[in-house]
Order: sequence, then C-alpha cells, then structure tokens
Amino acid sequence: MPEGSGIAFVFTKQRRKMDSKSQEVFKNKLLKEQKKLEVDLKKMNKINDYGSSEEANVYQFEEREERLGFGNKIKNSLLEIEHSLKKIEDDKYGLCENCGEKIELGRLKIFPTATYCATCATKKNSH
Ligand SMILES: [Zn+2]
Repeated sequence: MPEGSGIAFVFTKQRRKMDSKSQEVFKNKLLKEQKKLEVDLKKMNKINDYGSSEEANVYQFEEREERLGFGNKIKNSLLEIEHSLKKIEDDKYGLCENCGEKIELGRLKIFPTATYCATCATKKNSH
C-alpha cells in the first residue's frame, strides 16, 4: 500500500470502484476519442451524401458499402464510449459487467471501453 493513501485505499476497496483520479484520466481519454469519432462520422456522412447524387456504378457502390460499414463501426464505438461514460457517472467504471471484479488497468489502457475483465472476456469469446 502506498504511504499516505491508507484511508483512500480502504474506501476505494470497499466501494470496489476505481479511484477518482484514474477515472478522470479515462474519462478524458474517452471524451477525446468521442470527439474524434464524431468528427469522423460527420466527414463520412458528407461523403455519403455526395456519393448518392453521383451516377451509380459498381465501384462506387462497393466503396459506399465500405464507407457505410466503417460508419457503423464508428457508431458502435460511439455507443461503447457513451456506455463507458455512463459507467463513470455511476461510479461503476472499470468493473467487469459479468463478475463485478475490477478490470485489469492494463486492459483498460488498451481498451478503455472494455466491459469485461480478461477472464470473462476469454470465457465469452470461447462460447
Ligand atoms: Zn469478470
């Protein structure tokens, strides 16, 4: 236990939640990513609008499909970010939605929107 954080540590452990400082770091990370994705989505919608008024050919169609797929990916990511931000509001961020244990910090750093701990994610994937 780091010196001087005794009370905070106990409090954090009891509530099982992430300390507010780390939570803030992840919140900023998520908000930044959210902004970036929203800009990407806007750009994409503009391209799609333009594309629909163009003469249709197979190549354009495929390209459009690709963009739509990419757009859906962005939308999904935005939903995940919203979900994570909501969890921060509810003080549940960083907790596995399956077993309730803390999600590994290293995992959250790579996937800030992770909803399961590594163990549960592996279990879910193997199903
Ligand atoms: Zn879990």
